[in-house]
Amino acid sequence: MSDLISVIVPCYNEETALPLFYEELHKVIETMNNVEFEVLFIDDGSSDNTRNVILDLESKYNNVRYVFFSRNFGKDAAMKAGLDHATGDYVVIMDADLQDPPALLPEMYSYVSSGEYDSAATRRVTRKGEPPIRSFFARMFYKLMGKISDADIMDGARDYRMMNRKFVGALLQMKEYNWFSKGIFGSVGFKTKWIEFENVERVAGETKWSFWKLFKYSIEGIVAFSTTPLVLSSAMGLLMCLVAIIFVIFIIVRKLLYGDPVAGWPSMVCIISFIAGIQMFSLGIIGQYLAKTYLEVKRRPMYIIDEKNTNDKKEEVNVKEEKEA
Ligand code: UDP
Ligand code: MG
Repeated sequence: MSDLISVIVPCYNEETALPLFYEELHKVIETMNNVEFEVLFIDDGSSDNTRNVILDLESKYNNVRYVFFSRNFGKDAAMKAGLDHATGDYVVIMDADLQDPPALLPEMYSYVSSGEYDSAATRRVTRKGEPPIRSFFARMFYKLMGKISDADIMDGARDYRMMNRKFVGALLQMKEYNWFSKGIFGSVGFKTKWIEFENVERVAGETKWSFWKLFKYSIEGIVAFSTTPLVLSSAMGLLMCLVAIIFVIFIIVRKLLYGDPVAGWPSMVCIISFIAGIQMFSLGIIGQYLAKTYLEVKRRPMYIIDEKNTNDKKEEVNVKEEKEA
């Protein structure tokens, strides 16, 4: 029996890009003999015509599956939904804007199907066409993450990755609400083949990531995959204690030697505001972790489905039961 590859495509306001995407993907699929494909579109609460475009594709091609969210839950949630619903022997995640070249699929498949690798991942070696300031902060983020986190997060790594069932199974065991994909992919282990390519600009539509959104996302990533900031705030506390002790000794010695001319009001204000600043900063760090913990303990679903045409295992069970009855 030939292998089935599930292609997961998170879509958020991609009405212009989707038809072009499917066309390109189809061309590559045609060249791959002995492999079956299912294309699983996840509509992440688009406000444009994306849903109808997907329904239109579904009516034309019999390998199209879809899951529609009730609102926008973010790309991570869309990827998670894709992994939850994919049935293939191999699963690949691709952006809808053709920034993940479908032409790499045969190569990726050759690595994972040979059994030598459990996943074939891609990273872009250039950030051509991206605002320089964005590239700069992205680089800083990857450097920082490399230092403070156990997860192996590769600079320029895209979410475009083909995985075998073993790899997908491991991802699905990560039950957290704050499912930060970049960290999760890098934390499960297994053997990954990295494929490098030049950055491609999006074919149509606009990027969904503003600078502010990316910034918030990177903080989320740090909180999800590192506890170093907490250690940092304790370290700062300790350092401040040391400085204070030295200062006390200095003041006592000065009093004994020179008496006590009351002065130093401005320096006092500086010291108090400095310490208050550090305290608020540390509280903020703790608050970040507390907020995430709060969200985790609520156990809310990562996404809510409005409509879908996939066969869940659950539904399959129901069908079987009906037949038996
Ligand atoms: N996306 C999504 N939900 C979101 C934002 C983005 O599903 O809330 C999808 C989007 O449709 C695209 C992919 O994630 O298929 C990558 O988004 P985008 O191209 O805007 O990001 P960039 O490539 O600029 O980092
Ligand atoms: Mg893109």
